[in-house]
Amino acid sequence: MDKKGMLYLCATPIGNLEDITLRVLRVLKEVDLIAAEDTRQTLKLLNHFQINKPLISYYEHNKSERGKYIVEQILQGKNVALVSDAGTPGISDPGEDLVRLCIERDITVSALPGPVAAITGLILSGMPTGRFCFEGFLSVNKRNRREHLEQIKNDPRTLIFYEAPHKLLNTLEDMYSILGNRKIALARELTKKFEEVIRCSLEEAINRFKQSMPKGEFVLIVEGADPRRLEKQKHQEWMNMSISDHIYLYTSQGIDEKEALKKVAKDRGISKREVYALNLKNKK
Ligand code: SAM
Repeated sequence: MDKKGMLYLCATPIGNLEDITLRVLRVLKEVDLIAAEDTRQTLKLLNHFQINKPLISYYEHNKSERGKYIVEQILQGKNVALVSDAGTPGISDPGEDLVRLCIERDITVSALPGPVAAITGLILSGMPTGRFCFEGFLSVNKRNRREHLEQIKNDPRTLIFYEAPHKLLNTLEDMYSILGNRKIALARELTKKFEEVIRCSLEEAINRFKQSMPKGEFVLIVEGADPRRLEKQKHQEWMNMSISDHIYLYTSQGIDEKEALKKVAKDRGISKREVYALNLKNKK
């Protein structure tokens, strides 16, 4: 008989305590141990719901040693619930490492879904929700932050970020300089009394927060790249190239010369004969 316990990933409210699910309350009452990212925060929640259970911390700086301990407890037959500071464990917190450890040791992991700040912000943003990309926190390091934004600047999907108030202005300025003046929704204090969603352009957001210090944690939802603008940009890049460089762009990808001439003609809106003639002239 398998005497192992289980790991339960319990989503908790991101502000409004009424958002806890009945299933999470039951499991928190039933497990042997609760592992929490922020024990003080979780204690408030447990006290509110009159749940009295052994509580240990599991966060970024102790996840390696604590993860092993939790797995050991589960292997000895204990059921453990993992809760995040707020929201769903495993999203922008070390929960994913514990899940991986449990899977490696053949421990059953069960997810009890509930609030996620990213999705709550997205559905309030008014931006397309059909395709979106969660980017989590951008780095505090300016170079890494800008590199991250460079990597995703052509992504047409709606982009979602987490951000702390003291870093917000720098982040908005980098977004503006790399992504251009896109639409943004800044969602703060979600599900709380002073919930606010500011929908504006990146430029307007920068001006606003230059005047007053932002308060609260934010979810930033940024419009994806406009495919028409990208097409225009690509066209401009082709037109700035010499004909031979443009042909080389394709031949260097393994495309044969005849096909490359055809593609270049199409990109530049001229005939194949013209491309051929211009290329010949360049070579002379
Ligand atoms: N695991 C959490 C989740 O499921 O959303 C996220 C944890 S992450 C460490 C914390 C970040 O989530 C905050 O910095 C903020 O960007 C976002 N966040 C959490 N609660 C929020 C709220 N009530 N309103 C706006 N953003 C929130």
